[in-house]
Amino acid sequence: MDKAVNGKRARGRSALPTPLERPTREEAEAAVRTLIRWSGDDPDREGLLATPARVVRAYEEWFSGYNADPREYLKRTFEETGGYDEVVVLRDIMFESHCEHHMAPIIGRVHIGYLPRSRVVGISKLARLVEVFSKRLQIQEKMTAEIAACLEAVLKPHGVAVVTEAAHQCMTTRGVHKPGVTMVTSRMLGAFRDNAETRQEFLAAIGMRGGLHGSGAS
Ligand SMILES: [Zn+2]
Repeated sequence: MDKAVNGKRARGRSALPTPLERPTREEAEAAVRTLIRWSGDDPDREGLLATPARVVRAYEEWFSGYNADPREYLKRTFEETGGYDEVVVLRDIMFESHCEHHMAPIIGRVHIGYLPRSRVVGISKLARLVEVFSKRLQIQEKMTAEIAACLEAVLKPHGVAVVTEAAHQCMTTRGVHKPGVTMVTSRMLGAFRDNAETRQEFLAAIGMRGGLHGSGAS
């Protein structure tokens, strides 16, 4: 699955997706009217009249990540470490995304760790990094890998660790209907992949000591 994604957008995975011709706002609103009718309701009844416009505005917010290139952003914002060479961990960065299979919400949190070589970034920058990748149509595995790859490419640290925990509303509100289930994905690069102690330090910091077996770690 990853291959297809990489093959199609081989040049710069975390750069902006290939620009597509966007429909007009009117066309997007018309599509929402169609979905309302598909749901069995009347888009011309009073309560629904303004709904297409609201949905389209909501989409602008939910999918605002297509308008930003996180690599460029991070490149401009790193700082020198001043000799700090211990693991940096940010945990519980909340995010909302949408699954690319059902366009249903994915809600959860991301934990990020890295071992700086010469550059660090502020907390708000990492939160922004998560936001840019989450405000797109996503699958959790890809988002986790994209965040890790972007940090690695820009900061060039000794290692990067990203763990994502999230609930998928396409699983909890439909289909297999399993409320309460969360999915955990992880990406370990460099020192976090090669050195068990460094990895343990990170997992302990996010409260997962000895917890992660496989679940996408690579
Ligand atoms: Zn889904």
